[in-house]
Amino acid sequence: MIKAEGLTKRYGDKTAVDGLTFTVEPGVVTGFLGPNGAGKSTTMRMILGLDRPAEGSVTVNGRSYADHPAPLHEVGALLEAKAIHTGRSAYNHLVALAATTGIARRRVDEVIDLVGLRDVARKRAGGFSLGMGQRLGIASALLGDPKTLILDEPVNGLDPEGILWIRNLLKELSAEGRTVFVSSHLMSEMALTAEHLIVIGRGKLIADTSVTEFIEQASTGRVKVRSPQASRLGELLAGPDVTVGNVEEGTLLVSGLISDQIGQIASENGITLFELASQQASLEEAFMELTGNSVEYRAPVAERSAA
Ligand code: ADP
Repeated sequence: MIKAEGLTKRYGDKTAVDGLTFTVEPGVVTGFLGPNGAGKSTTMRMILGLDRPAEGSVTVNGRSYADHPAPLHEVGALLEAKAIHTGRSAYNHLVALAATTGIARRRVDEVIDLVGLRDVARKRAGGFSLGMGQRLGIASALLGDPKTLILDEPVNGLDPEGILWIRNLLKELSAEGRTVFVSSHLMSEMALTAEHLIVIGRGKLIADTSVTEFIEQASTGRVKVRSPQASRLGELLAGPDVTVGNVEEGTLLVSGLISDQIGQIASENGITLFELASQQASLEEAFMELTGNSVEYRAPVAERSAA
């Protein structure tokens, strides 16, 4: 479990992380979502003791990172993707890392298989593609078999197969009871990977919610209806608080009624329905709406007045 309380970080007069309080529970993948510059990396660096908070605190399983006697067994981390400049093979890179932390060589073989690097394990890691580099980074994070995993934008630059692989791996690791905290600036990605979301903007907490709840809130309250008797149905549905739009021949977009009511009215009047569907805003739209005022580069006026 990760627990942040009033976590704050300033760079000069800029507040990168602003009084964040949240808890990341084990057993589910928790997405850490926010536009670029929101403060996700800074927060993760503070969790790992790489940056010192100006105020507040953050603990992993009840202790600050530095206070754990064997931190690599406690927390595994993948920070921003960067090329590995090494002449060593992936295997030797992991063996060296294991040796400095008292981890058995057997575990190196395990993680190499776990991340699917067996075929290239003896090749020079410096020549790896971004995707293979990410796999090696994840292998390093998993080496100590940690109870907690922290990954900063792990899918950045990966091909669809790599993205799917990470998604499934994170789900498996969390299903084993681990705490998995993974950041992204893409809502659509998080919706497929995470069960819980912590959303930040400009260093502040915007939402702490399940993905399901987030999607429900994104519902626009419009219902799409397709019927061979669309115009007749439109007349029956119309009312003072109901708007009926005609999208195309045979299709209506209705607001002011829920799909149950529309289905009922259609049935009472013997009208055939081919489709009856509540419309949701796309997740990306809902996310933009939520964080719209907190995107750094898009709101210079708001930033000036807030400063
Ligand atoms: P994210 O990971 O969400 O993209 P970051 O944590 O990297 O956001 O950055 C949060 C804010 O802090 C940004 O405005 C960024 O420019 C600023 N920032 C991050 N690191 C530094 C640093 N070392 N010095 C000065 N400003 C920084």
